[in-house]
Amino acid sequence: MRLAIISDIHSNLEALSAVLEDIDRHSADRIICLGDVVGYGADPSACMALLRGRGVDIIMGNHDEAAFSPEKRRYFSENAAFAIRWTAKQLGERELDELRSLPYRISFDGMLFVHSTPRSPERWDYLFSGLEARSQSAAFRERLCFVGHSHQPAIFSLEPAVQEYSATGRFIINPGSVGQPRDGDWRASYGLLDTVAATYDNHRVDYDVAVAARKIVAAGLPRRLAERLLDGR
Ligand code: ZN
Repeated sequence: MRLAIISDIHSNLEALSAVLEDIDRHSADRIICLGDVVGYGADPSACMALLRGRGVDIIMGNHDEAAFSPEKRRYFSENAAFAIRWTAKQLGERELDELRSLPYRISFDGMLFVHSTPRSPERWDYLFSGLEARSQSAAFRERLCFVGHSHQPAIFSLEPAVQEYSATGRFIINPGSVGQPRDGDWRASYGLLDTVAATYDNHRVDYDVAVAARKIVAAGLPRRLAERLLDGR
């Protein structure tokens, strides 16, 4: 099976469209989204519709949750809070219900999918280092756990001696962010797992970042949210 893992779309339609095209070129059998479909960007409804149309399985992210649950915006930065208020106004009741129904975790075939951490998928802690990842090792039984949230692509081996992805080791993998990468590379990021070839690869995809940035400004969203797309920070 070829599984495409995408995360942190953040209402960036240009990035999402380009990533889905790239996934089609690699003929994936299934697409999983690790959450944060909305927030920050200018096209929340269109991104939700595109994923719905493609039958993508979606996990709950903190921005998805904050769209329908205003009390969850307490810990948001000023720009994030502004954007999620704007987002909630763009979405209809059915779309908000759709976000409300998202699961905090999905598990199948020895793989766990969450937005933040395997230990507490409904809390919004971050996993930045191998050390932090290894401290989560006993919190799940599956061989692999896919996380998003940090917008930083990473492969964390749960055995300190192992460095590279293998078909037998245990790993926590972050595919990076489609719609707002923060690792200094502005290109959209996603992961492709091939269970037959026993490979995992991070892919970077060019997209029309200028259009996505212009739409953010035109929508009256904070300018910084447009600028950060251009430098990938
Ligand atoms: Zn995010």
